[in-house]
Amino acid sequence: MTLKILINASYFVVAVLFILGLKSMSSPVTARRGIIWAGIGMVLATLVTFGWPGMTNYVLILIALLIGGGAAWWSGRVVKLTDMPQMVAIYNGMGGGAAAAIAAIKLTCCELHSTPVVALAVLGAIMGTVSFAGSCIAFAKLQGIMNKTFRLPAHNAVNFVLNAITFLVGITIVFTASPTPLLIGSLFVLALALGIIITAPIGGADMPVVISLFNATTGLAVGFEGYVLANPALIIAGIVVGAAGSLLTELMAKAMNRSIISILFNPITGAAQAGGDGIVGTMKEATPLDAAAMMRYARKVIIVPGYGMAVAQAQHKVWEMAKLLEEAGVEVKFAIHPVAGRMPGHMNVLLAEAGVPYDKIFDLEEINAEFPQADVALVIGANDVVNPIARIDKSSPIYGMPILDADKAQNVIVIKRGKGAGYSGIENALFYAENTRMLYGSAQQAVSAVIQHIKEMAV
Ligand code: NAP
Repeated sequence: MTLKILINASYFVVAVLFILGLKSMSSPVTARRGIIWAGIGMVLATLVTFGWPGMTNYVLILIALLIGGGAAWWSGRVVKLTDMPQMVAIYNGMGGGAAAAIAAIKLTCCELHSTPVVALAVLGAIMGTVSFAGSCIAFAKLQGIMNKTFRLPAHNAVNFVLNAITFLVGITIVFTASPTPLLIGSLFVLALALGIIITAPIGGADMPVVISLFNATTGLAVGFEGYVLANPALIIAGIVVGAAGSLLTELMAKAMNRSIISILFNPITGAAQAGGDGIVGTMKEATPLDAAAMMRYARKVIIVPGYGMAVAQAQHKVWEMAKLLEEAGVEVKFAIHPVAGRMPGHMNVLLAEAGVPYDKIFDLEEINAEFPQADVALVIGANDVVNPIARIDKSSPIYGMPILDADKAQNVIVIKRGKGAGYSGIENALFYAENTRMLYGSAQQAVSAVIQHIKEMAV
């Protein structure tokens, strides 16, 4: 009895650590501390669970911990920041798979007490399995293992029918006294197919939202299975992840002006990612010297970083350049789009790592009104997040997505390597605009060359 009270008290501490950790992760200033708190919570929850009454298979648990912990430690060290989305996808899938595995065991070999508990086990089984299958597909696509999207004929109808059959089988299991292993097995097969069919047509720009959605469903599945196991730590962790994942999904979908329904049932596919037929104008090239002169003699420069800055690891050089400009009396600000890069907060993390003070970094809503007063908008490896097509072309798949209004600056300099498209594969009207000059090169080299010229101008 005392042991049970001690375990539940520890789980309460775990819950507080999770919630505080998550709260701290909402700001780059406290994010590192948040991760440590949540990590301590996770270690405590794992250790305490060893004392759970009826726990006997210590060796098996230790082997599982060693395999999981080892894989996480290794991938945490070697995976590049730009590959984080696929790492999140696969971890997410593992969580969903684990929840589904709990459901499979509980449904096949244990007498569950009541209909609501069976219903939660079944719901967790469906959500966990869908999340597992979908996250594996998302991982394969982001990792470049699976390069094609595919849609079945009458895809949405198949999707709907499969959904209906899966839930029908689920309901049958809930109301059958002793469901056969075949019935339970078919639930998992159907849910696996559902996860694959939902995710297979999704490509390009929609994938981050889908990963976040699976994150939410994994959280809920874990929470439901926590209820089945009567384990408070699992219930709380699952619900916290489910709630955070749902909010993040909503925020990302809003930042791309897409509804969740339209992402799932009308995704931006390869066919839709055509190339800017209505765009007029030509791309005009600038040299590093041109760029240096335009910024050195400007009053205000707004820097828009994107995925290319992350690939080139140019953040330190960018900050070095910004400091030189500030020393020359130029006002410099950084503008961050909510989905710039490949994960939420990607640019904030890189700029913070380079030492850019937080009061120089502005969100889309804060900075957009300032672009018309900027002499130069310097776009570094960003593409989709500054594409004016999203404002003007109703037929474009990204129409309505809020963008950073870099095109409204007096002059725009775009640093990129060549004519490569952005993540959505859509041609960018900004690059052809009258006030835009293209500075071709990898971001780090291009910014280094600009720095050199700014220094020469100072002497
Ligand atoms: P983007 O649209 O993907 O464009 C990146 C650009 O960087 C490319 O056009 C590429 O052109 C250039 N580039 C690549 N390597 C470079 C290098 N070494 N040096 C200089 N430039 C380089 O990036 P974004 O504007 O940041 O937009 C993000 C996109 O990713 C959005 O479509 C968003 O929906 C999606 N997404 C976001 C998240 C998230 O949560 N943040 C997650 C996944 C996907 P070149 O090849 O010509 O150099």
